[in-house]
Amino acid sequence: SLVQALSQLQTGLAAVARVEQVDHLESEDLSVGTASPTASLTSAGPLPAAQVEFDRVEFRYEDDLAPVHRGVTFTASGTGLTALVGPSGAGKTTIFSLIEGFYPATAGEVRVEGVAVQDWSLRELRSMIGYVEQDAPVLSGSLRDNLTLAAPHATDEDVAAVVAQARLSEMVARLPDGLDSAVGPRGVTLSGGERQRVAIARALLRRPRLLLLDEATSQLDAANEAALRQVMLEAAERTNVIVVAHRLSTVTSADQIVVLDAGRVRAVGTHAELLRADGLYRDLATEQLLTAEN
Ligand code: ADP
Ligand code: MG
Repeated sequence: SLVQALSQLQTGLAAVARVEQVDHLESEDLSVGTASPTASLTSAGPLPAAQVEFDRVEFRYEDDLAPVHRGVTFTASGTGLTALVGPSGAGKTTIFSLIEGFYPATAGEVRVEGVAVQDWSLRELRSMIGYVEQDAPVLSGSLRDNLTLAAPHATDEDVAAVVAQARLSEMVARLPDGLDSAVGPRGVTLSGGERQRVAIARALLRRPRLLLLDEATSQLDAANEAALRQVMLEAAERTNVIVVAHRLSTVTSADQIVVLDAGRVRAVGTHAELLRADGLYRDLATEQLLTAEN
């Protein structure tokens, strides 16, 4: 029906807009900068991890709204896994929006590779970033289409490599037509964990120098949870990964955890350090907000 077709189109467009923001950047106010990444995206070999610095960042969505960030400072540099944790509404997802240049900081500075976000060309900035949003959608079409959406020139080898990296090989082998199987609303239904790994594979195909991952809050079964952790850790060996973490298994693996509360950074440390030093973190880790590993 027309209604169905429209709703599918909308789902598709929303995802494309998120995945391939590069196409409509010219119209955005922020695309005034000229800085460019030093390495070409298509060059062979691992790309250097892009550094992210939050320097006393204050942010409010509107002048008459309460500030979301009230002086956020942290650095994520080199390869490795940085986990952002904090209660709902603490401003975790907004940190990703600022890194991607969706909004300018109200005060202070967000820098990527030492360059303020507003001084980057947004096209260049976002070409370095793989962004996996919470509950990233799977579109109608083949699994291959879903993966190559933002990397149309990816070769079969490239696709096979990210399928393996995202621990999707077994799933692909189970599908009737492998990568050419229809998925999404009109095809094979993927589990939450599989959808998340498809979204990660899609992001990895663009060879990001910075991977931003907003972890889904929904429960995953043990196998999917283990797969997800492995995928994140492996990606973190090759690039800079920042994850909004909702799972204990993610934070225990992180190189550093940034604890956000009421717009401020309460503490930075490893899981063991924060368990000792920070009461809020201890509550998050032992109670409801981080999902226990099982
Ligand atoms: P978290 O990811 O930690 O749950 P968010 O960064 O999503 O927190 O949101 C932080 C605060 O900003 C919340 O109070 C939320 O309601 C508000 N907020 C988020 N997005 C917008 C927006 N687009 N416009 C106005 N307020 C927003
Ligand atoms: Mg969020």
